[in-house]
Amino acid sequence: MGYLFGPVLSRRLGLSMGVDLLKHKTCNLDCIYCELGRTRCLTRYRDRFVPPQKVLQEIKARRSEPFDYLTFAGSGEPTLSLDLGKIVAEAREIVEAPVAVITNSTLLTSPAVRREVAAADVVLPSLDAASVESFRAINRPASDLKIDKIIQGLKDFRKEFSGEIWLEVMLVKGINDRDAELIARAAESTEPDRIQLNTVVRTPAEPVEPLSEEEMKKMLEIFPGAELIPDWDWSVPPATRDKLLNLLSFETCTLEEICGRLDLAGSDAIKYCKIMERDGLISRRLCGGKLCFQVAVKPYYNQKKI
Ligand code: SF4
Repeated sequence: MGYLFGPVLSRRLGLSMGVDLLKHKTCNLDCIYCELGRTRCLTRYRDRFVPPQKVLQEIKARRSEPFDYLTFAGSGEPTLSLDLGKIVAEAREIVEAPVAVITNSTLLTSPAVRREVAAADVVLPSLDAASVESFRAINRPASDLKIDKIIQGLKDFRKEFSGEIWLEVMLVKGINDRDAELIARAAESTEPDRIQLNTVVRTPAEPVEPLSEEEMKKMLEIFPGAELIPDWDWSVPPATRDKLLNLLSFETCTLEEICGRLDLAGSDAIKYCKIMERDGLISRRLCGGKLCFQVAVKPYYNQKKI
């Protein structure tokens, strides 16, 4: 076990259960903004990195946990795994949630890879450059990768895939923002369902600068119809937060008990618990092997009742 991670709160996918088919960190790019750090294993070859049957066993074992998407992502570029297509197709039969693949788009030049990725419900490719210079500057690719071919691969994929394509464009100050017009035209030409603009929010591989909120809003004029990937704006509806705090002030509850008592769907309950944990309002512990939640600090009005 250990091929799944999360579920994590994702800005694009809600509560996302990650599947990692790679070894840390295996990629054909070495993006300057990568939150995984420098690419130590810069490879252009597809390979088997993990045993597929074990991954599928783990997906089966965790299928009933609440999550909004099962997402193929993780320690590098998922399309470098030769098992991606098989595992995605089988995972769709196992889990109820839609299956998403996050990819840097580079291998969509290959018809075989496009067929494998097309087994997903949603594909989240990225495109940060439209010229050789900015591709080198921001993505630092393995030597044989060509940006014009990658853009053509995205166009071909659009023709072959009827599911949702959400194209991400990462903008880094002074690196590719000057090429925004060119990138916008290239992004539009690939006809994705959504274009999502992002800037550096997590600790990057290199000391690069994000665009300001104002600069990102201006980018929407260059990328008409695009959207900004929202900031970490998770919040719990106040009435639900109060009810949950009140419940947990009196007793420690499992996730199932929280769902039953507050009439919440499993994915909402785990999402709210994670947010309230992050905010220091509640904490988790294991009770008889089950995950339970309790208040971190008892509210004043309940302390008085005891
Ligand atoms: S493609 Fe993704 S994993 Fe690879 S270097 Fe870029 S950000 Fe990191």
